[in-house]
Amino acid sequence: MTTINENFLKLQKNYLFADIAQKVAAYKEAHPEANIIRLGIGDVTRPLAPAVIEALHRAVDEMGHGETFRGYGPEHGYEFLRRAIVENDFAPRGISLSPDEIFVNDGAKSDTGNFGDILGTDNTICVTDPIYPVYIDSNVMGGRAGDFAGGAWSKVNYCPCTADNDFIPSLPTAPVDLIYLCYPNNPTGTTLSRQELEKWVSYALQHKAIILYDAAYEAYITEADVPHSIYEIEGAKACAVEFHSYSKTAGFTGLRCGYTVVPEQLTVTAASGERVSLNQLWNRRQCTKFNGTAYIVQRAAEAIYSPEGKKQVKETIDYYMTNAAIMREALAEVGLKTYGGINAPYIWLKTPEGVGSWDFFNSLLHEINVVSTPGVGFGPAGEGYIRLTAFGTRENCEEAMGRLKNWLK
Ligand SMILES: *Cc1c(COP(=O)(O)O)cnc(C)c1O
Repeated sequence: MTTINENFLKLQKNYLFADIAQKVAAYKEAHPEANIIRLGIGDVTRPLAPAVIEALHRAVDEMGHGETFRGYGPEHGYEFLRRAIVENDFAPRGISLSPDEIFVNDGAKSDTGNFGDILGTDNTICVTDPIYPVYIDSNVMGGRAGDFAGGAWSKVNYCPCTADNDFIPSLPTAPVDLIYLCYPNNPTGTTLSRQELEKWVSYALQHKAIILYDAAYEAYITEADVPHSIYEIEGAKACAVEFHSYSKTAGFTGLRCGYTVVPEQLTVTAASGERVSLNQLWNRRQCTKFNGTAYIVQRAAEAIYSPEGKKQVKETIDYYMTNAAIMREALAEVGLKTYGGINAPYIWLKTPEGVGSWDFFNSLLHEINVVSTPGVGFGPAGEGYIRLTAFGTRENCEEAMGRLKNWLK
């Protein structure tokens, strides 16, 4: 008789985006003439950079000729891309990594979710709250989250991030083994300074814990004191894995590519007492369960690091961040308090006093036909906030802010 992984039955239905879609559809049906502007979903809208498109075309042509055709590639990723990564994303920040510490993947979601494969199910996890749901759900699947009761998982340590603590999480008070940090943060758009991140690294080193650091929004950082990589912090190579993604950096949400850094220094003690290299273990896992990202996509990713690629990618990021600035200004003008939007394409908006996340979501939908994401959908500490994204078109962004001013002024 077949049994199933019962942990999957514990997963909560992802009510959030389904609920949003349903509310928007119902509104649209009752008001077919409404011009609805979506500032809710965390997906990019600008096309790929010309340098990326040219690289894709070239790679496709190579695949059509016997002499340049490529079959299975290295599970780790092609050397040309891993080299470009260490030389462009790390060396200029004074971080020395070997291409063997880079694992090219099909996006950061896969690896943030899969990394738990090589870690014991008895590890205690710690997350900031609100949070990108993948970290928790993948640990529910892995049997580390306990049971869901009263809006939280019994075995998960939550570090609340709200306006009261300037969105700076306190270190866990109970012992934890796996710490998920995402900075710049989705959903709050806030960051940790170098000094704050140092506290987490020294906590992890002291408690023999591992930090799983999601740097998906690193390319959006504009302020000098915000670390782009956890490896800017001394000692981090001995306690941290870092996830990168070209999705938000270069519009690869549909193309699929990213990478994970697993430093050779990073070891964990096995039950036998032996120190085990996570780099080797992850390599073993990938060689068995992953056969690499498409060659043409890795060529596309490499093109981001060419001089034209860098310039074009930056132009797109600047476009989104100008949207963010327009939104922050407009929201401030009508007296709403916002966070984020300076080093990340997300604006975290405090709802008016006494108004819940869903109530404010409904007001925005009904009064000005703008779709947001209720903060409480990202965790209990997100109640009383909504998330707006800067990934829309300039036109929609300006139109939405114009409507907001008319409504609230
Ligand atoms: C969008 C996003 C990612 C990227 O996921 P991909 O699978 O690379 O598209 C990773 N982490 C966070 C927090 C994100 O918001």
